[in-house]
Amino acid sequence: MTTFEHLMEVCLKRAIIYPDSEPHGAIAGFYDYGSVGSEIKRRFENEWRNYFLNVNDNYHEIETCSIMPEKVFKASGHLDHFFDPIAECGKCHTKSRADHLLEDVLGEKFEGLDADRLNELIKEHNLVCPKCKSQFKDIENFIMMFPVTIGAGDSTSLGYLRPETAQGPYSAFKREFRANRQRLPLGLGIVGRAYRNEISPRQATIRQREFTQAELQIFFDPEEEPEVPFDKVADKLVRLWPQGAKKVKEVTAKEAMKVTGMSEFFVYHLALVQDFFRRIGLYEHVRAYEVPEAERAFYNKYQWDHEIFMPSMDKWLEVMGFHYRTDYDLKSHSKATGEKMNVPGKGYVPHVLELSFGVDRCVLALLDTSYKKDDKREWFALNPLVAPWDVGVYPLVNKDKLPQRAREIQQLLKLEGLKVFYDSGGSIGRRYARADEIGVTYGVTIDFDTLEDDTVTVRFRDSTEQKRVKISDLPSVLK
Ligand SMILES: [Zn+2]
Repeated sequence: MTTFEHLMEVCLKRAIIYPDSEPHGAIAGFYDYGSVGSEIKRRFENEWRNYFLNVNDNYHEIETCSIMPEKVFKASGHLDHFFDPIAECGKCHTKSRADHLLEDVLGEKFEGLDADRLNELIKEHNLVCPKCKSQFKDIENFIMMFPVTIGAGDSTSLGYLRPETAQGPYSAFKREFRANRQRLPLGLGIVGRAYRNEISPRQATIRQREFTQAELQIFFDPEEEPEVPFDKVADKLVRLWPQGAKKVKEVTAKEAMKVTGMSEFFVYHLALVQDFFRRIGLYEHVRAYEVPEAERAFYNKYQWDHEIFMPSMDKWLEVMGFHYRTDYDLKSHSKATGEKMNVPGKGYVPHVLELSFGVDRCVLALLDTSYKKDDKREWFALNPLVAPWDVGVYPLVNKDKLPQRAREIQQLLKLEGLKVFYDSGGSIGRRYARADEIGVTYGVTIDFDTLEDDTVTVRFRDSTEQKRVKISDLPSVLK
């Protein structure tokens, strides 16, 4: 059984993930992606773009700023509601998140409860400071956004680092709607950074202060729900954990309409989310948890949190939120600015379905669920779409024209669009092991026979099976 600590050791050792500003004493909640981790993360992000931005030809990617003026967050409700409930020890003054304290002790979810209710629960269960066992003071709310002073001298104004990418598309909606010939549905996606001043950052990249989101905001007319090609997903399986169910139900998208009580438009997008997880090898680890009304933001009409079972932690981790946010966002911004954002010819604004992915958590889930170890070796059995490289190219020895031939083959594979790296150091067994350790899908070895008959040895990471292949057939075999 691999522990989370071991997984993190592996990530540190192989330049996948490590703490930011390490030589200066890293601050909790800030992590960097190394030379290997960046490749995996970028591939995940690109797969996300390829998949979701091709769902409809009116779904687009935009890029908006990380610093936004205070007014935006007044309108969005963040300034009034985006707090963490903090329990401070009366004696040693250690601060902890009240809902996490309860979760750790009682093993249930307590997110979204107000301070009064949390105070009651803490008293009811006699929770005390984990460090010195003293009583807590009354819970206080702590704003989670990082403030930023914009400008200098007399002309400064207050801004915040965005706590989610979503406010960018809401602010850009009117302009994009016009530019895209006022068609609905309109999807605006962002892959970008967001920031939260977490009081208690959790292990590694699970709860960070700076993190990456991939979010798609889909604007649509609620009274004329958009038609979707539902038959394309009707038979695809989805894994759901609806309210009141004792365990996860695996049903077809068609059956999911009855299970969830949602219409084709919503179930179609939920099925796409799970199909995306299927594409990158995470489907069998996923479940969609129907969040009960008491835990949802008041504007979310439907909320299905997608969670992945993390073997090293022996628990479920939320990686994606499926949120039907109704008219809350556009209405709030419209009210604050006086700008009309109506559906053409109608008295209401478009509604929003949000697909919100935590990129760092998805990457961590990919690593955790694909980590393998036996008595000979350890490796990441990553799906080829999210492996850091497709192929490693290795000359058997560093002489007799083998390196030269290997470089030619590397170039040939690169031109075929494969991601290739070259390694000529150490024994061939050691090079295979190094590549396995970072999840490279294939290895290609160039030996003396290559010079004679134009064949190479192809080795597959997961089975270590080897096969002799003609160089001319290599691109099609690997693809
Ligand atoms: Zn204490």
